[in-house]
Amino acid sequence: MSTPTIVWFRDDLRLADNAALTWAAERGPVVGLYVHETVGRSLGRAAAWWLRRSLDALREALPAPLIELEGDPREIVPRFARELGAAVTWNRRYYLTDVDAAVKEATGAVSHPGYLLTEPWEVRANPYRVFTPFFNAARSLLLDAPPTPLPVPDITPADIDPATVDAPGEPAWAATLAQHNTPGEDAARARLAEFIASSADYDNNALDGLTSGLSPHLRFGEISPAEVWLAAVDAGAWAFARQLLWRDFAWHRYYHVPKMETKNVREKFDRFDWEWTPNAVPGTTAAAFAQPEMDPGAQHLIELAAWQSGRTGIPLVDAGMRELWATGRMHNRVRMVTGSWLTKNLGIHWRHGEEWFWDTLVDADAASNAFNWQWVAGSGDDAAPYFRIFNPLTQAEKFDPHGSYVARWLPDTADYPEPMADVKQSRLRALAAYDDIKNG
Ligand SMILES: Cc1cc2nc3c(=O)[nH]c(=O)nc-3n(C[C@H](O)[C@H](O)[C@H](O)COP(=O)(O)OP(=O)(O)OC[C@H]3O[C@@H](n4cnc5c(N)ncnc54)[C@H](O)[C@@H]3O)c2cc1C
Repeated sequence: MSTPTIVWFRDDLRLADNAALTWAAERGPVVGLYVHETVGRSLGRAAAWWLRRSLDALREALPAPLIELEGDPREIVPRFARELGAAVTWNRRYYLTDVDAAVKEATGAVSHPGYLLTEPWEVRANPYRVFTPFFNAARSLLLDAPPTPLPVPDITPADIDPATVDAPGEPAWAATLAQHNTPGEDAARARLAEFIASSADYDNNALDGLTSGLSPHLRFGEISPAEVWLAAVDAGAWAFARQLLWRDFAWHRYYHVPKMETKNVREKFDRFDWEWTPNAVPGTTAAAFAQPEMDPGAQHLIELAAWQSGRTGIPLVDAGMRELWATGRMHNRVRMVTGSWLTKNLGIHWRHGEEWFWDTLVDADAASNAFNWQWVAGSGDDAAPYFRIFNPLTQAEKFDPHGSYVARWLPDTADYPEPMADVKQSRLRALAAYDDIKNG
């Protein structure tokens, strides 16, 4: 039997339209590898919950062994390849690129595209920093040369025993996550089909409007963006297809400006006096809502805890934060409103918000989360201007006119708190703070 090829799975937990898997299958026997990496940022708890189930679904579907190992891929992947005398292949990712370069150097691995519709160097040599021209250029590329998704290949399994690692502990709110989420390639495809059938109703503004719900499936690569794009174009769902290119744009910006995850893209915001406590530990208790274990002496940490647990006294903000906690998801508009309240009205650093979303969103990814937090805060590329401060009361009137979204997540309770800040006064305070840096 010929030597096997290792497919190093990362954010591509699918069989269909998986270029690395197809490449490996054409060469001979296949072995799948997933490395629980000890380098880079650890997954948040909600994303780790999703990953465990997604890997289980992949193991079930893959007609070849899936080996799970834990450690630094720069050591693990070359060692495993040497032991098997195997070639290595993967689909590209756009973070930890130094890790991938080292593994490639050691193994001669062959990499493939597939996580995005367009690669970060593909749309223009001098990358766009503004979305609309990026969108126009990327759309033209995709319409001129439409992607051609690959079918599931015929796979010959390598003769190796599968292996897994100890599953991490379940997050405290695993039971409610399970009620709202079904990870895995089959679930992703079913969700796409169901969405496309009614995509004429797509509306990502109204809080009870239809959206695809595909973000965690795309995050873990359970379905390829090419497949989703083609289905959208076929259905004439252009408003939806445009959103898919926001995902590409966020990843392109992150690839070119990796500091985005922790540092302001627009450096004048370094002088902005956001409240910030490094290494504040997000909530880890098993209580219904996390109570962050932080120094309660600092007022902004008390406010941060109230925001996290949906107790700011601002109904739309609290409904969104409770939706996030219960489901691992949150409507895009509400992400913007809750983010604006935190960074502008409360003056708390966007990094605290980014960290909480990282820990609690099932779709959390390094680029989309940081990019969008900086968009909300005003410190990113093509961001909402700082002076655009979402008013959570008028946003609720406009996008939740019957109050159904708020009622779903925030049932009447006797102990509901008073608003923690006055909407108008906190807005004026934020604008004054911005005046201090805007001319710098
Ligand atoms: C503060 C903040 C943080 C966010 N963090 C994340 C994150 O960690 N991961 C994430 O996938 N999205 C993030 N988003 C973007 C957006 O809110 C979600 O992608 C969207 O709500 C997912 O729901 P859906 O799949 O029903 O979206 P749909 O409206 O059906 O959109 C289709 C797909 O397009 C992509 N998309 C849509 N909007 C955006 C956007 N603004 N940026 C990037 N991609 C987009 C997603 O992959 C989504 O699944 C964030 C937005 C904000 C304001």
